[in-house]
Amino acid sequence: EAAAKAAAATADTGGPTIFDKIIAKEIPSSIVYEDEKVLAFRDINPQAPVHVLVIPKVRDGLTGIDKAEPRHFEILGQLLYAAKLVAEKEGLAKGFRIVINNGPEGCQSVYHLHLHVLGGRQMAWPAG
Ligand code: ADP
Repeated sequence: EAAAKAAAATADTGGPTIFDKIIAKEIPSSIVYEDEKVLAFRDINPQAPVHVLVIPKVRDGLTGIDKAEPRHFEILGQLLYAAKLVAEKEGLAKGFRIVINNGPEGCQSVYHLHLHVLGGRQMAWPAG
């Protein structure tokens, strides 16, 4: 957790991220869902039995949700809808959680917008 916080504090460069390589399939990932605009793949460090990241294939300025503009309305809707499809596909009928970490205090470490879809266990609230 300390490492995640340290990474989060220094990560907002706006430069390329590891997700570019995942999108380009230059590094392997376990893809759960894919369409023209959206990619969903398993988190390498899962925090729940199901932990999938849903990302736009083109970042278009969306280093984080704080950078959202009206031009992003469509992709934002597509990401949320893809998260729902992932939850369905993963059998999370009993419930799940969608999370967006933003900025250092939100513990964001990869500056390419992504939704975490977490499920397969009882979630707690408030989040840590
Ligand atoms: P945090 O690292 O605090 O969860 P983020 O919300 O930015 O911050 O999440 C980035 C996520 O990307 C992390 O859950 C991390 O495990 C995941 N991740 C990093 N590299 C890879 C990878 N190569 N394949 C899959 N997931 C990855």
